[in-house]
Amino acid sequence: VGPNLIFSVIYKTIFSWSMKRAHIISIGNELLIGDTVNTNASWIGRFLTEKGFRVDEVLTISDNYESIVASVKWSLEHADLVITTGGLGPTHDDITKKAVADIFDSRMITDEDILAHIKKMFALRGFTFSESNREQAMIPEGCDVLFNNRGTAPGMWFQKNGSFLAVLPGIPNEMKFLMEKRVSEKIDTQFQETGFRAVKYLKTAGVTESSLSDDYIGNLSHFIDNDFEIAYLPNPGGVTIRIACQEKTEEDSDLKISELENYIREKAGSVIYGEGRDFTLSEALGNLLKCRNYTLAAAESCTGGYLSNEITNVSGCSNYMKGGITAYSNEIKAGHLKVSESEIEKYGAVSKQVALAMAYGISEKFGSDIGVSTTGIAGPGGGSPEKPVGTVWMGFRILDQHFAMKAILTKDRLLNKERSSIIVLETIRRVLLNIESMPYNLKQERA
Ligand code: ATP
Ligand code: MG
Repeated sequence: VGPNLIFSVIYKTIFSWSMKRAHIISIGNELLIGDTVNTNASWIGRFLTEKGFRVDEVLTISDNYESIVASVKWSLEHADLVITTGGLGPTHDDITKKAVADIFDSRMITDEDILAHIKKMFALRGFTFSESNREQAMIPEGCDVLFNNRGTAPGMWFQKNGSFLAVLPGIPNEMKFLMEKRVSEKIDTQFQETGFRAVKYLKTAGVTESSLSDDYIGNLSHFIDNDFEIAYLPNPGGVTIRIACQEKTEEDSDLKISELENYIREKAGSVIYGEGRDFTLSEALGNLLKCRNYTLAAAESCTGGYLSNEITNVSGCSNYMKGGITAYSNEIKAGHLKVSESEIEKYGAVSKQVALAMAYGISEKFGSDIGVSTTGIAGPGGGSPEKPVGTVWMGFRILDQHFAMKAILTKDRLLNKERSSIIVLETIRRVLLNIESMPYNLKQERA
């Protein structure tokens, strides 16, 4: 018994109520060379987080006996729960089972239930049963079988010095089945005494990560000192603020997290459009439009329908979305949106005047309360010194307000479509809620 082990046992005992630490080990050469995206690790990470674990490490390793033994041993010493996936198949490269059996000094035995299950599955599919398939019914003596109704490789559950190990197949739907049906149950019985973790996602749009932190929220070290976890997660749609804490009881952790949530909302409420990991800006805006009874229409040039796509990703959007026109050519801008040809000639298609006229034109044509437009140079070609790639004009006619805004975005075409769509949605939201500052502090310009 080495000092590491003693330390880890003491550590686990003292902190067992407040921390449940997990490691995920993904096994397979195909993951390392990039042939397969490691979706298992992210799926399990999310699952365990929701179960109240703190996932400390994700290891991705090859189908190599020494690596598997070393990684699993390391993780069992440093985490309360270790999940491995991959390498349980019948082929020669699948050696996880052998490695794990050796860690636990177990000999391999045949499990008759599994054998019967495999034979039945083969018969059902009309395959002939071979000796290498018999191998699949072998398990290390002493483990608990996590019965795999979806496939032939069983999952296995081990226990060592207060830590637990689940060994699962790599095929994603089998792994998910075993996590949801078998591992979940084991966790619920083995980790009862541990604390409750509360996690919240606050979603913002139209503000950069640094501005959100510096100009809105400010210093949170007092909360961090009090064992809160706070993360700013930027993505093309905005910045998600994830906050988390862990307490002995569910009530305590809920109470504690609302303390931080209230603080953040007080500071940054105007840029938070909603909460929940998967809640979108289109949903937030949709709710607002429905509740105010306003309708919307979009005239899109550079976004080519992306904005309408975002808006219509929300179920029930027919309540407020009237429709849109992808007005890519000048001919369509003039013919269908009544943008004056002389203005297009004088100012160019990517201009304040054209954006204003497009927004006005679409709201008139479709009789909507709100009309919006985009016209820009999405790139990567087509820029000029006066109008570099990424220049986007967005037009708004929101009830009695009529204005346009210019943003200089990126050199990436898709990103520009995405960003300008988000800015348009967030602008409508802010105007309807009488929030003064515009996304990314863009300036409203009138005719
Ligand atoms: P089985 O015995 O059911 O074949 P296995 O444990 O042997 O399962 P692997 O042979 O390692 O699983 O992988 C099976 C398939 O699952 C592979 O095609 C691989 O692409 C996919 N897979 C393995 N690991 C992952 C992972 N971490 N994320 C996503 N897919 C994975
Ligand atoms: Mg494999």
